[in-house]
Amino acid sequence: MQSDTQDHQSFDFSSPWHFSDVVLIVEDTKFHVHKSTLSMWSPVFERMFTSEFAERTAEEIPLPGKHVNEVEVLLKLIYSYGKVQTVSDENYHFLLELAEEYQMEKVRAFCSEYLSYNIQESNSIHYYKIADRFNLKDVMILCIEEARYRTSLIMEDDQEFEELRPEVKLEICIERIKELERTLNEYAKTCSSLVEKVYKEVADSALAAIECDNHPVHRTGSREPFKMSCKCCRRRVQNVDCVIQYSVLREMLKKLFDLEHSNRIARRAKNSID
Ligand SMILES: [Zn+2]
Repeated sequence: MQSDTQDHQSFDFSSPWHFSDVVLIVEDTKFHVHKSTLSMWSPVFERMFTSEFAERTAEEIPLPGKHVNEVEVLLKLIYSYGKVQTVSDENYHFLLELAEEYQMEKVRAFCSEYLSYNIQESNSIHYYKIADRFNLKDVMILCIEEARYRTSLIMEDDQEFEELRPEVKLEICIERIKELERTLNEYAKTCSSLVEKVYKEVADSALAAIECDNHPVHRTGSREPFKMSCKCCRRRVQNVDCVIQYSVLREMLKKLFDLEHSNRIARRAKNSID
């Protein structure tokens, strides 16, 4: 992001410059600009300068109802092609409004790009509402993807979530459920294979010599000395005194650790417990 001083150094619209051929008047402030530049960015200005309206020849065009600082930001954005003047949280809203009024597709795209890049869990609902208002489809999709990490407690307290259309709320809730299910499923799978691994290790090291007497289970399939599905085997493991090697569990514990640290839902759950 550039500082204000740099902006001013780069563009000064207050007096004629570089063959400027039209003046926009906003709240008594004059902006010396170029018909060709405005026409390239906005079909509305293009029509103004080419049609038989009074604006075609008028050297000064008043823009009633507009604000000086907002038009200045818009012009700097246009003239610097989004380089010196960038889109920010302070200006995206009025830039979108101006872009809509003057049909400036590229300005709208700059704003869409800014929003897409800056969506976070915390602003996802707010950005969604903006995107919905200005019909920024890509941003809307990204917002819903991000909103799935918001907990039900946060949603309950969020006035902006409350104000969303019912079908949007539902869509966010469904995405949240899918994410929770996916996380839970990964956890359950990893945990149960860890438990099974521990049971098998204990059985191998401490129970190998002792036959299980639960014949029906052991008779089916392969005749392993220990079967996870056998109640009797599990009870024997639970009651035995045994020391097992950490190294045999290392890989699975690492997987569980990684899951907890790479997964946003798991991380958040852990933080709220801590
Ligand atoms: Zn058994």
